[in-house]
Amino acid sequence: MRGAVLDGKRISQEIQDELRPRIAVLTAKKRAPALAVVRVGDDPASQIYVRNKIKACHDLGIRSIEFTPRGDITTSELLEALEPLRTDDSVDGILVQMPLPRQIDADAVTRRIVDAARDVDGFGVHSLGSLVLNEPAPRACTPAGILQLLKRYQIPIAGRHAVVVGRSNIVGKPMALLLLHENATVTICHSKTSDLAEECKRADILIAAMGRAAAITASYIKPGAVVVDVGMNRITDPDTVRALFAHDAARLAAFEKNGSVLVGDVEPRAMQELSSYYTPVPGGVGPLTIAMLMANTVEIAETRLGC
Ligand code: NDP
Repeated sequence: MRGAVLDGKRISQEIQDELRPRIAVLTAKKRAPALAVVRVGDDPASQIYVRNKIKACHDLGIRSIEFTPRGDITTSELLEALEPLRTDDSVDGILVQMPLPRQIDADAVTRRIVDAARDVDGFGVHSLGSLVLNEPAPRACTPAGILQLLKRYQIPIAGRHAVVVGRSNIVGKPMALLLLHENATVTICHSKTSDLAEECKRADILIAAMGRAAAITASYIKPGAVVVDVGMNRITDPDTVRALFAHDAARLAAFEKNGSVLVGDVEPRAMQELSSYYTPVPGGVGPLTIAMLMANTVEIAETRLGC
């Protein structure tokens, strides 16, 4: 068996195209939706993530505002610097790009500046509580995107056994709850799970969100399972790259050129050969996260502007 690709790029584009007429209505009747992104310091990965978010806003006609305080700022200085943003009624969504520098109290910053009504990332206490109750509120973008992907490919969820590896507040836990609300039977695994392979092997739908390069190998995958690989791990060791991508000349060539490759949490060859459907890394889950951020921004703007 060779699994079919769940094309996150295509579904991301589809979701964003569906937003265009809604953005046009908002812009014509009131104003363009607006998203503020706070990025503290010069973390290279954060710079790329934020650049992609701002670009997506630009492409769709969403106004974006970027705040980039210097990396050695203290928590209280940061809170003071962000006060004008917090009280700016023309901003619909506020997100704080993680990770913040070590000296910053990340919880204090998000609690202070991201109020429940503008929580585009869906990470806040109110949004997460609403998710538990299955009530409307912005959902965390990565799990919401994965659910869209499964639904748009008409992957049956109700009654299936879903195994989520990872229990973070931004991916694993919200993913498990979304699948539960779709009537899957859900198992959540984490670093203290005693036999991870055994748990994963029972999954009809396996979601890997652990941040461990290619840790899920062939013996973890039930033949025919749907495998969603959330992990994004950059590999620079040539031997590891050769072992993982011996079957993939294009990836090996890309490694020779760039000196690194991205790999998910699932061993790529095993995923392709054993699954019925799988998400490639890159091009699977990543693009959906941005699409859902845009969707949350538009939805919040519609609510706030009464459109
Ligand atoms: P976290 O580090 O916050 O959480 C990782 C989770 O995996 C934890 O719950 C941890 O368990 C569990 N875990 C770690 N090692 C193991 C192990 N050996 N066996 C079983 N469970 C394990 O990561 P995130 O949830 O933020 O992200 C997960 C991955 O997804 C990362 O690679 C990240 O880069 C990627 N990601 C990708 C996105 C995208 O858009 N494509 C968006 C967000 C994340 P415990 O709780 O016990 O410590």
